[in-house]
Amino acid sequence: MRWKISIEGSDEITRGHRFEFEIERSLDDLAAGSLGLSIDEGKAIMASLQRHIVEQQCALYVLFRRHCQGCGGTRPIKDYSTRTIQTVYGAVTVESPRLYPCRRCMPGVDFTITPVSELCPDRATADPHCACRTSCCHAALAR
Ligand SMILES: [Zn+2]
Repeated sequence: MRWKISIEGSDEITRGHRFEFEIERSLDDLAAGSLGLSIDEGKAIMASLQRHIVEQQCALYVLFRRHCQGCGGTRPIKDYSTRTIQTVYGAVTVESPRLYPCRRCMPGVDFTITPVSELCPDRATADPHCACRTSCCHAALAR
C-alpha cells in the first residue's frame, strides 16, 4: 500500500512550488500491527514540509530584497553563504546571498545586506507553543 502526498505552494513572485513524498506499507507491516503513522514518520513529514516552506520563504524574500525600490533595478549579489535556522521541526539550512546596493541608485557604495539575516536575525523561528525551553526558542520569543 502506498500513499503519495503532494504539497503545492504559490507566492507573489515565482511560478509556484510543489513537492511530493510517499509513505509505503506492506501487508506484512499491517499484519505486524503497523497501523497508521508512527511518531517518527510524522516528525519526518513535518520536518520535510518545514524545510520546503522555509527554503521557499527565504528565496522569495531574497527576490523581494534584490528588487531596488528606488529604480526598479536589481541589486547585484556579492557572494553566497548558508544560514541555519532553528525551527520547531528541526534545523533548516538555506542559501543566503549578500547583496550590494543598487548600482544605479548608490554607485560606488560597497556595503552589503543579507536578506536572510534580516528575515531571521536570531537564527530561529518563534513558536509560542513550543515547550522545548532551548535558548533558540527563548531568543526567538524575546523578539
Ligand atoms: Zn536602484
